[in-house]
Amino acid sequence: MTAENCLFCKIVAGDLPSESVFESETTFAFKDINPAAPLHVLVVPRRHIEDASVVTAADGPVLADMLMAARAVADAAGLATPQRGYRLIFNIGPDSMNSVPHLHLHVLGGEPLKGHFGIA
Ligand code: 5GP
Ligand code: ZN
Repeated sequence: MTAENCLFCKIVAGDLPSESVFESETTFAFKDINPAAPLHVLVVPRRHIEDASVVTAADGPVLADMLMAARAVADAAGLATPQRGYRLIFNIGPDSMNSVPHLHLHVLGGEPLKGHFGIA
C-alpha cells in the first residue's frame, strides 16, 4: 500500500530523489538528508506502515527484513560487529521528534556515538 502524500512512499516509488544505499524486495534504504553521524541511513518498508507503535505480528517478516537491511548497510560501510557497531533508532510520536509518518529505522554510526541513547 502506498499512502498518498507520504514523503517516504514517494521516495520508495522513485517519485522523489534519494541516495539509495540498499534495496530488497520489501525494504528500501537511503541516506538521511540531514545526517547526525558519518553514517546516517534510513531503512523503510516499501509498504506504508505509519510507525513502530502500530506494528503487529503480521509485520514480523518485514521488521526482520529491516534489521537485516540495516546490518547490510552497516557492514558495507565497514561497521560490522564485533569491531565497530552502530545504533538503530525508531522514533514514535512528538516527544521523540518523529517527523515523517512512515516507519523508518535510523542507522547511525561511523564514529563513537555520544551518550548511550542520544544521537547528537
Ligand atoms: P524522524 O525525525 O521522523 O525520526 O526522522 C525523519 C528523518 O528523515 C530525519 O532525520 C530527516 O533528516 C530525514 N528526512 C526528512 N526529509 C527527507 C528527505 O526528503 N530525504 C531524505 N533523504 N531524508 C529526509
Ligand atoms: Zn508512506
